[in-house]
Amino acid sequence: MDDLRNYIGGQFVAHSSSQWLDNLEPATGSHICRVPLSDASDIDAAVAAARAAQPAWGALSHSERADWLDRIADALEARYEEVATLESRDTGKPITLARAVDAHRSVSNFRFFAGMLREHEHEVFEMASATNYVINKPVGVGALITPWNLPLYLLSWKVAPAIGMGNTVVCKPSELTPLTADLLMRVIDEVGLPAGVVNLVHGDGAGAGAPLVAHSDVDLVSFTGGTATGEKVAASAAPAFKKLSLELGGKNSSIVFADCDMESTVAGVVRAGFLNQGQVCLCGSRVLVEDSAYDEFRDRFVEAVEAMRIGDPSDEATDLGALISESHLAKVQGYVELAKREGGVLLTGGTSCVPSGFEGGNWMAPTVIEGLSPDSRCATEEIFGPVVTIHPFSSEDEAVAIANNTRYGLAGSVWTSDLDKGRRVSEAIDTGMVWVNTWLHRDLRVPFGGVKDSGVGREGGKWSLDFFSEAMNVCVKHD
Ligand code: NAD
Repeated sequence: MDDLRNYIGGQFVAHSSSQWLDNLEPATGSHICRVPLSDASDIDAAVAAARAAQPAWGALSHSERADWLDRIADALEARYEEVATLESRDTGKPITLARAVDAHRSVSNFRFFAGMLREHEHEVFEMASATNYVINKPVGVGALITPWNLPLYLLSWKVAPAIGMGNTVVCKPSELTPLTADLLMRVIDEVGLPAGVVNLVHGDGAGAGAPLVAHSDVDLVSFTGGTATGEKVAASAAPAFKKLSLELGGKNSSIVFADCDMESTVAGVVRAGFLNQGQVCLCGSRVLVEDSAYDEFRDRFVEAVEAMRIGDPSDEATDLGALISESHLAKVQGYVELAKREGGVLLTGGTSCVPSGFEGGNWMAPTVIEGLSPDSRCATEEIFGPVVTIHPFSSEDEAVAIANNTRYGLAGSVWTSDLDKGRRVSEAIDTGMVWVNTWLHRDLRVPFGGVKDSGVGREGGKWSLDFFSEAMNVCVKHD
């Protein structure tokens, strides 16, 4: 594959330095392409292009911009299989997952926000002597920064509402997974979106991400990534009063009550723990089980985990692929070693498991650990890999106390046949979203985001439209 290039002002352009990063395939370690290591001068050019394009773009009507979003959705849909294949190759995830989740959601993000824009109406507040009406103006130039686990899924989740509300943007995708961001730029170029509305600068966090956030002509920052990076982004953006949305890490509990439907719960909790090799911010990586059902659940859970097929991501029979990088694999394995020192017992996994022919890749067996204190490091820190800890509890109050005993508050799930209990426990958890008897059952209209160290703000549905705009009230006195 050719070296990648930045997309600035409607042109694919070379970056200004001579520095490159090798993009490696997680499943094999083989070289895919070189990624530009852009610097502040490339960011300057992209922000200038976005700024120049903003007035004309912002002057279009909602329905005109919705038409553009639909054109992008159609063009992406026509490349559905290409999106899935590139995403699977770049991330190491199974092709079936890349099709069902990544390719599918990237198209539906553009369609969904096109529909929302067409339905968007000014709010009106009547008074006896005057009428207030609220308009949503563009914020200006947006910086959109995304991680490697759901590359196009998350980038399109930001690009669609951001440009839909009349902003122009500079995207900085993860340097580890640049392929589908590059494909989106080719799609945008192909449909003829006005130059400068969407720009993309490749590069790492220090070289490209940090100068983008700090740029004096950037008005808004939407960041998805780790909590430690989020701290730096907030410290840089806040003094300039930039509009800021932070979608950060998670350490989510799956709470299993003895009255659950055991078969569907085991399947659901395995999916919550290990989807995308456990590399989803919403993954239920700590499983809390009511003590009267603990032994039965644990045995069935381990049996289901061991039945997952690990292997070639391009094989449709594969359930689990490779981890994103060698250094991330080392970090995850480090947590398994820590768990042993903390007194954990490995019920399954904990080892590397390299499929034949994939010796250069980053492979790890799905791992289940019991016997750890729920406040141990492995049970409270984000591992972001195929590692789940399992813990008994004896009452609703104890389950909620354990679930709330982390610095994170992103998601969770509750499994019970008593829906009153399901709602009661859900509402007691300090988190942005909870599912009852399901997990990652997404409706694009609902608010998405976390509390505590999982982030600030909400995106999704009308919350995205609000974040990517400035609400302005006009009050007109009656004659
Ligand atoms: P990361 O924080 O290392 O990187 C995310 C992005 O930020 C990348 O594009 C990176 O280049 C960039 N970046 C790094 N340093 C920067 C800086 N100083 N300024 C500006 N940008 C900078 O995260 P990651 O390892 O790519 O992704 C994994 C993390 O993302 C996990 O913690 C996961 O929970 C989180 N995540 C959260 C959500 C959510 O919606 N809450 C969704 C997906 C992933």
